[in-house]
Amino acid sequence: MAFSSACTPSVNVCILGGGIGGCSALKSLLETASSSSSVALIETERGLGGRSSTRLSREDERIQINHGAPMADVRTPDGLHAFQSLEANGFARQISSQDSSVQYFVGDPNMKPAMTNDKVTNWILKDKNDDVILTTDWLVISGSSVAHSRWTDAFGGEPPLVKAAREIDNKDLDDALKCIGEIGASPVQVAMMAFDNTESWNSITTCTSVVEIPDDEILDKLVFRRSSDNNIVSVVAHSTTEFALTAADVYGSKSTAARIGGASSSADREEEVLGVLMSSVNTQLEKIIGNESVKPPMWGPFLHRWGNAFPTGSALPLEKAVIGDAKVALCGDYVGERFGSIEGALLSGMRVGIEVGKLVK
Ligand SMILES: Cc1cc2nc3c(=O)[nH]c(=O)nc-3n(C[C@H](O)[C@H](O)[C@H](O)COP(=O)(O)OP(=O)(O)OC[C@H]3O[C@@H](n4cnc5c(N)ncnc54)[C@H](O)[C@@H]3O)c2cc1C
Repeated sequence: MAFSSACTPSVNVCILGGGIGGCSALKSLLETASSSSSVALIETERGLGGRSSTRLSREDERIQINHGAPMADVRTPDGLHAFQSLEANGFARQISSQDSSVQYFVGDPNMKPAMTNDKVTNWILKDKNDDVILTTDWLVISGSSVAHSRWTDAFGGEPPLVKAAREIDNKDLDDALKCIGEIGASPVQVAMMAFDNTESWNSITTCTSVVEIPDDEILDKLVFRRSSDNNIVSVVAHSTTEFALTAADVYGSKSTAARIGGASSSADREEEVLGVLMSSVNTQLEKIIGNESVKPPMWGPFLHRWGNAFPTGSALPLEKAVIGDAKVALCGDYVGERFGSIEGALLSGMRVGIEVGKLVK
């Protein structure tokens, strides 16, 4: 990432990251900016959704893995309004809640990525081989990693936005980067698997259900998703943060750090960590669905580490998230209210998308 003026392909606004924050910024931008503005969204993963995506298996499309957030717990009037609007357009669905102060929503796991381009320049985005991906007038950053020392840990080198900021020398951007640099990360280790012949799993009735495991040192929750033909149940076991902290050296072969940064962990350690998680999973499954019904999974188990499942510390205030002079804006669950949640990512993306949309010519 560099700050300069140059060549093609180019857009008016580029959103970096297609999680909830980036997608919500994209929607608001398209609704606010003039129709001649061009907008691109770049995502490193093979689909949208980030930490709240549902991964569909290439081997069997009935395997649908909610390997990050299983659902959004919505706690503010603005958030409820935004999710109801998504529901009215078929992108989300409200599920029942016992607690009137929290509303739960799940998303549609079949959304596809989109990208368009054209025009003006300022920011130049480069890939890891230093080849230009595109140039853009405005940059909206929805994942904090390009501005955080986590980047150095996973990929090596200085975080690209920090490096670019030195060339720009803008106090508001420097202040925002300082705030982001101080945000910590709370990890979660997940084990993903799918079971067939689950007709006898009577307690797993709804499409997505979450079973919290209180007072367990290893497991925090189990997330179940039943396929529409009723046969396959995809299961994701979320570790406690305490357990994930003991396994910081184990990435899981499907994690971003492993796929893109080339980070690897010892196969023996992976097996060891997976073994501990699976021992707790089997104990819990026997309690939930009955001893006789638990057979080995037909897919998995696979390990995945979320080094930054939830941010810790203090959020970047929303009023500091759009830096007009540097033509950069920041959104995601590390910005504004409802720190570390889908609702926070959605609301900050909406706000930033509207503000940038007004500023884009
Ligand atoms: C295991 C787990 C359980 C959770 N449970 C809950 C819950 O119950 N309720 C709740 O509200 N929240 C929960 N969360 C948190 C929730 O998932 C996040 O707060 C929310 O999804 C954050 O959205 P975001 O858009 O800010 O960031 P992300 O979802 O992280 O999106 C950022 C995107 O940017 C992409 N990206 C990063 N760098 C680049 C780059 N250089 N170029 C291009 N793309 C890039 C990433 O691939 C990613 O897709 C959970 C998270 C985890 C991991």
